[in-house]
Amino acid sequence: MSIEIKNLSYIYLPGTPYEKKALNQINLSIKAGEFIGLIGHTGSGKSTLAQHFNGLLKPSSGSIEVERRNLWAGKKPPKDICGKVGLVFQYPEYQLFAETVYEDVAFGPLNLGFPLRNIAEIVQHALESVGLDYLLFKDKSPFSLSGGEKRRVAIAGVMAMNPDILVLDEPTAGLDPVGRKEIIRLIHHFFQQKGKTVIWISHNMDEIARLVNRLIVMVQGKILMDGSPQEVFSREKELMEVGLAIPAASSLVRRLKEQGKPIPGKAITVDQA
Ligand code: ADP
Repeated sequence: MSIEIKNLSYIYLPGTPYEKKALNQINLSIKAGEFIGLIGHTGSGKSTLAQHFNGLLKPSSGSIEVERRNLWAGKKPPKDICGKVGLVFQYPEYQLFAETVYEDVAFGPLNLGFPLRNIAEIVQHALESVGLDYLLFKDKSPFSLSGGEKRRVAIAGVMAMNPDILVLDEPTAGLDPVGRKEIIRLIHHFFQQKGKTVIWISHNMDEIARLVNRLIVMVQGKILMDGSPQEVFSREKELMEVGLAIPAASSLVRRLKEQGKPIPGKAITVDQA
C-alpha cells in the first residue's frame, strides 16, 4: 500500500490562544515494502503526522491519499482503507481495557466487521505473531501480565486487523533490553511478510538506524531530511545543528565505510540490532 501526502499542515486548537501549528507543509511518498524511521525531538510533529496516516486526524490543509484514495473525499475516512494502516501508540498497553486478552485482541477485527466465525483464528494468529501462546494467554486478564507481555498484547490487537502498514510510536519505550529485543524481533518478522511497510517513530537515532532503509528527520513540524541512513548521516553537521547527531550511529556508518562494508539497511538482521 502506498501513502501520498501533499502540502499537509495541521493546527491544534485553531483560533484559540493555544493555537499550535504542529505540521507545516509536509510532502511525503511512502511505497509498499519500505522500513522507515521517523526521527525527531519531542514536539517535532511525529505523532501528529502518524495520526494522519489512518485518518485519526483530519488535515487543516493539504491532502493524504492511501492506496491512491483521498482519505477525506467524504465526511469520514473509508474504514476499509484506514483499517489497513495499523497504529501502535506510545505505551499502547495503557489502552488495554477488556477482561481477557482474547477480548482485547478481538476488539479491532470485530470493529472492522471481520466475520465472527473467523475471530478465534485471527486472535490466535495475532497472539502467536507476537510470540504469545494462545491457550496460555487468551483467558488471562491483560492487567495480570508483565510490562513486555502487555505491550505485545497491545501490538497483537493491531496485528489482528491485518494491516499492510504498521506505524509504531516509540514501541520500545520503557522496556528492558529483553523486552526491547522481543519487540524489534516481532516488528522485523512483520516486515518480512510480502508487501508490508513499517514506519517506526523514535527520538533515538541509534535505536533504529540499523533497522530501517529510509530515515525521515522532522524538525518543528517540517521534514528536514529524507533519505537512506547513509544519506542522512552524511549530513552530520546539519543534524548536529538541530541537536540530532548521534555519534554512535554516525560513527558506525563511517566505520563501515572505511571497512568497505555495506551500510545499514534492509539486509541487516535482528540479531545485529
Ligand atoms: P512528537 O510526536 O514529535 O513528540 P507531537 O506531534 O506530539 O510531536 O507534537 C507536535 C506539537 O503539537 C507539539 O508542540 C505539541 O505540544 C503539540 N500538540 C500535540 N498534541 C496536541 C494536542 N492534543 N493539543 C494541542 N497541542 C498539541
